Amino acid sequence: MKLTFLGTGAADWNIAAYDSMPFFRRNSSALIDGTLLIDPGPHVFHFAEKNGTPDLLDGVKNIIVTHSHGDHFCPETVVRLCRDRDCTLWCSPECMKVLGEKLGNDGVFGINFRSTEIGKTYDIGGYKVTPLRSNHFATPGEIARTYLVERDGRILFYGCDSAWLPTDTWNFMRDKPINALVLELTCGEIATYDWRIFEHNTPEMLDIMLKMFRKYNRFAPDVKYYVSHMARTLHTDHESLVKFLEPMNVTPAYDGLQIEI
Ligand SMILES: [Zn+2]
Ligand SMILES: [Zn+2]
Repeated sequence: MKLTFLGTGAADWNIAAYDSMPFFRRNSSALIDGTLLIDPGPHVFHFAEKNGTPDLLDGVKNIIVTHSHGDHFCPETVVRLCRDRDCTLWCSPECMKVLGEKLGNDGVFGINFRSTEIGKTYDIGGYKVTPLRSNHFATPGEIARTYLVERDGRILFYGCDSAWLPTDTWNFMRDKPINALVLELTCGEIATYDWRIFEHNTPEMLDIMLKMFRKYNRFAPDVKYYVSHMARTLHTDHESLVKFLEPMNVTPAYDGLQIEI
């Protein structure tokens, strides 16, 4: 699987400031093999255009959604990718409700939608995809998700947004030979012990999780760790983050980073 990070920032990055900033992160989103999109965020077409690949999203056949927060789930993006196109939106019923409220009944017409449940594995365009519970609140009744995505024996865990991992999620993933984990690091080195610990990760939390994974030698022998969903106001610059995470052997993602899983 080839994963391209289309966005690696939290909600506090303002796309209007793109041209005036030396280093920029769009709202979090990732594309697998050009066909499976994780989170139809508001900036995905901006990435495609600025990356010099305006057709990048033309091949998207399926979209999976972590939760309905505006930095991950943009109704206009869903319409552009799904309406009257061979592209299916896989998400929670509550997420679809949010879409209906924003677009109206006529607005969701022509959008293929499939409701998914936590802990069930779905065949989505040749990928085995399992939504798992995340520790993050979006709208009442909605369970935000992380995802396990598997193809040809290679496994990705995508965990934006979630503080820690809920027990049932850990129980599901702990014996899987996962090859790449994308964990969220909303809070950076200038935001240790931040108040957002109940919905987002801080460096201390990341460090503890990594030490535990390594102590019990979980996942595949070649497992690699990445972080994404960095908040503009809670981090310094990317180079400092690279250095800061070096001792933890974690790679911070940036917009446009491609990884082979
Ligand atoms: Zn977010
Ligand atoms: Zn969120």
